[in-house]
Amino acid sequence: MKAAPEAQKRLLDLAELDTGLDRLRHRRRSLPELAEIDELSKRLAQVSTQIIAAETEAGDLARDQAKAESDVDAVRVRVERDQKRLDSGQVSSPKDLASLQSELVSLRRRQSDLEEVVLEIMERREAADARVTTLKAEREEVTGTLRAAEDRRDAAFAQIDKESGELTSGRSAITADVPADLLGLYEKMREQSGVGAAMLHGGRCLGCRTSLSIADLNRIRAAAHDEVVRCEECRRILVRTAESGL
Ligand SMILES: [Zn+2]
Repeated sequence: MKAAPEAQKRLLDLAELDTGLDRLRHRRRSLPELAEIDELSKRLAQVSTQIIAAETEAGDLARDQAKAESDVDAVRVRVERDQKRLDSGQVSSPKDLASLQSELVSLRRRQSDLEEVVLEIMERREAADARVTTLKAEREEVTGTLRAAEDRRDAAFAQIDKESGELTSGRSAITADVPADLLGLYEKMREQSGVGAAMLHGGRCLGCRTSLSIADLNRIRAAAHDEVVRCEECRRILVRTAESGL
C-alpha cells in the first residue's frame, strides 16, 4: 500500500485521539460512582422490603391489640355486672352468693391475664413502630446519598461526553485528510490490537515496544517514502518520522 508520508503521519494524531477516546470510555465504565450507586440501590431495595415487613407486623399487632382490648372490655363488663348484683344485696341465698363471688374471682383473674396480654402486645407493637421509624430514617438517608452519587455520576458523564465530543470532532477533521485505503487498514489494526498505527522511534516500534532487527530497519530504509510499512512484530502501521533512527 502506498500513501503520502504526510497522510501517514496524520495516523499518529489519529492514534493519539483514539487512545484518548478509549481512555474516556474506560473512565465512563469504571467511575467509582457506578459501584456506589449499585450498592446504594441494593441497600434501598433491602430497606424498603424491611419497611413493608415492619409495617405489616405493626399493623397485625394493632389488630391483635384491638381484639385483646375488646376481650378485656367484655370481661370488665361482666365483672361490673356481677359486682353490682353483689352490692345490691339482691342475692341472698348463701349458695348463690358463694357462686357469684367465685365467678367474680375467676373473672378478675381472667381480666388480669387479658390485661397482661394487651400490655405484651403493646410492647411488641411499640418495638415494631420504632423499627418502622428507624428504617424510614435510614431509607431517607440512603436515598439522599444515592441521589448525590447519581448527581456526581451525571456530572462526570457530562464532562466525559463533552471531552469525547471534542476528540470525535478532531478525529473527523483528521480522517478527512487520510486516504480511504490507509484509513481502512488503520481501523482494521485498531480493531485487532487497540492501536492502529505507531511511530518508529529510535529503531523501536512504539506500538509494541520492540526494537526492530537490523534487517527490518534496512528493509524500511530501502522502502520508498510513500510505502506503508508495518511492524513485523505487532503488524501495526509503522510511521516514519525524523526521530525514527533510520
Ligand atoms: Zn510493533
